[in-house]
Amino acid sequence: MIPTKAYAAPAASRPLGPFEFDRREVGPKDILIEIAFCGVCHTDIHQVRDEWGGGSFPMVPGHEIVGRVARVGAQVKGFKEGDLAGVGCMVDSCRTCANCARDLEQFCEKGAAYTYNGTEMDRRTPTQGGYSSRIVVDEAFALHVPASLDLAAAAPLLCAGITTYSPLRHFHTKSGDRVGVVGLGGLGHMAVKLAAAMGADVTMLSTSAAKEADARRLGAAGFGLTSQDATFKRLAGHFDLILDTISAPHDYNKYLGMVRLDGAMVLLGVPPEPTPVAATSLIFGRRTLTGSLIGGIKETQEMLDFCAEHKVVSDIELIPFQSINEAYGRMLKGDVRYRFVLDLKTL
Ligand code: NAP
Ligand code: ZN
Ligand code: ZN
Repeated sequence: MIPTKAYAAPAASRPLGPFEFDRREVGPKDILIEIAFCGVCHTDIHQVRDEWGGGSFPMVPGHEIVGRVARVGAQVKGFKEGDLAGVGCMVDSCRTCANCARDLEQFCEKGAAYTYNGTEMDRRTPTQGGYSSRIVVDEAFALHVPASLDLAAAAPLLCAGITTYSPLRHFHTKSGDRVGVVGLGGLGHMAVKLAAAMGADVTMLSTSAAKEADARRLGAAGFGLTSQDATFKRLAGHFDLILDTISAPHDYNKYLGMVRLDGAMVLLGVPPEPTPVAATSLIFGRRTLTGSLIGGIKETQEMLDFCAEHKVVSDIELIPFQSINEAYGRMLKGDVRYRFVLDLKTL
């Protein structure tokens, strides 16, 4: 077993604190990554607070993991010692079902093995995430992080990056498409950067007037304040695609009104409570309301390579482990610009 230092929540809604546990030995197809940085996703907060139920504690969150390979198993082909490597939201899947065969492991029919607050595919061994010194993972679920990217700022690509890249690709976003991004946090700021890099005409839709200048710097051509009804009137029927990253309950119907004929709104945020949708919000304008879950491993690598080509990384605030509970508090107030990243040197 490989001793590992970490920060964990001992029980639901309790503050995180130091914790030690063992990683498994490096198997023939595994790599051991010494973690350098781990991003802080709002999903970590939902799960630590057990807002979606079924949480398993003590919980070591973290699924935006980057570091260097320190050991490789005998049969590993794609990585060698010293390589940069990343791990996102999944560490395994069945690899044989129809969805896995289509490189959509996130939709594995047997249920993927999530990086933390889940189990390995044996359904017994709990998984623990990247707020930790090291991780052992099958090379099939590890990503190559391009060396040209700033490593700390690349960490959030492993979740916030792929979660916004995947629906942009699925809806064939191209030059001139009108894309609305709702909520300027970790996912939202990546959505703006990636959509702009694809040539889209991006509008940021935010509750925070103070974020307008940042939204424009990140690549948004337009800005709408969602606390004002005038915004929804001005942009009625405007967008080909809306990516909704809001983490709290809100009225989807209002946002659907801004989608044009045959356009789509994709839910990425996961509010803990359901919200009613009126049939008329979809019928008028033949609109699509859908959701999207991270992205498959192949697409995650494609996204990382796209980011290297277009020089896209996250805007981060690097924090020590000792500040994690305070960082959660700030994220809950929408006060993050635009992703906290934990520096493993401080563990
Ligand atoms: P975040 O950094 O905290 O950003 C969320 C943003 O939503 C805030 O900055 C704020 O933006 C807006 N917001 C928050 N509360 C709001 C409210 N009550 N009303 C209106 N707007 C509000 O969170 P994140 O890490 O980007 O994650 C966002 C959501 O995506 C979370 O629910 C997370 O679990 C989910 N997620 C889903 C996937 C997936 O695969 N689908 C992957 C990762 C994360 P403004 O200040 O601009 O209004
Ligand atoms: Zn995440
Ligand atoms: Zn599968």
